[in-house]
Amino acid sequence: MPWSTSDRRQRLPRNWRHIVARIRRRDKDRCQVRLADGSQCPNSYGAIDHIRNDDDHRDENLRVICDPHHAEKTGKESAAGRAANRRKQQAKFRRTEQHPGLVG
Ligand SMILES: [Zn+2]
Repeated sequence: MPWSTSDRRQRLPRNWRHIVARIRRRDKDRCQVRLADGSQCPNSYGAIDHIRNDDDHRDENLRVICDPHHAEKTGKESAAGRAANRRKQQAKFRRTEQHPGLVG
């Protein structure tokens, strides 16, 4: 397979399957996300979450996360990325006239 098509999945370590099993056992197959009231999410395993760095496959960077929280997290991350790109674009093409929403 050509290197150019390599993506995140292919960069997972060879023993990823074993790591997943270990993390699921450690976290008792329960989502590790803390809810707003400080309690632990009651949902069960949906995916393995990379807490900080997607390329860090050490146990301390991994945890069990439920599907809804996983979707929320990945959604937020891409939304944040889009917002950052938008800000960059705006900075690049900043206009001097007032935003139409502010006129009148
Ligand atoms: Zn959850």
